Amino acid sequence: MRPCRVLVVEDDLGIAGQLARGLRRAGHEVTVASTGAEALSASTCDVVLLDLGLPDIDGFEVCRQLRERSDVAILAVTARGEQADRVAALDLGADDYLVKPFGFAELLARIRAVLRRAQPADTGSITHGGLTVDMRARRVSVDGREVMLTAKEFDILECLAVDPGRVVPRQEIFERAWDAHWYGPTKVLDVHIVALRRKLGDPDLVQTVYGRGFRLRPAR
Ligand code: CA
Repeated sequence: MRPCRVLVVEDDLGIAGQLARGLRRAGHEVTVASTGAEALSASTCDVVLLDLGLPDIDGFEVCRQLRERSDVAILAVTARGEQADRVAALDLGADDYLVKPFGFAELLARIRAVLRRAQPADTGSITHGGLTVDMRARRVSVDGREVMLTAKEFDILECLAVDPGRVVPRQEIFERAWDAHWYGPTKVLDVHIVALRRKLGDPDLVQTVYGRGFRLRPAR
């Protein structure tokens, strides 16, 4: 997932802090607002993670006002599991909702999904030399020949393709393609890279930059 700006609207400071730390580890820029008023006066962002139970303004009203003024992606967070609340949030313009408690991997997946829907142009396709990566359809081709990748191989290639030529640190690939809390063996990444090179049919397209990470071969 490419880094984005997330506004976390949450009055429980413990939860807000935890979310902010996790999202920052995943590479995102995070602003925290602990009231509805703060949320409505916060600067531009890509995604709002909006707790509906706020101390000052009703969360539904915050949702409505945010939607009125921009088409930012809104992910409503509710402790109340009632279906009526979820429907109300969606009716007021939320793109999706999460019911507390939720896991971090689920949160990242929902953010990815709402961003894909909110910014289709941003996640279109990337062409780099003979390589084409279609972010939305998750398809890859080299010189017009479709390459079948596993989901993980695609995620890794996506990390590199969003900014061809930039060296992407191993840690960043783990955080984006696995999740923020990958403590397994890191050799698994090298195994996927080997498979990716073989499938792309151009061993030098994905380059290893020793001690730093990987990148796509810069365009000539
Ligand atoms: Ca709350």
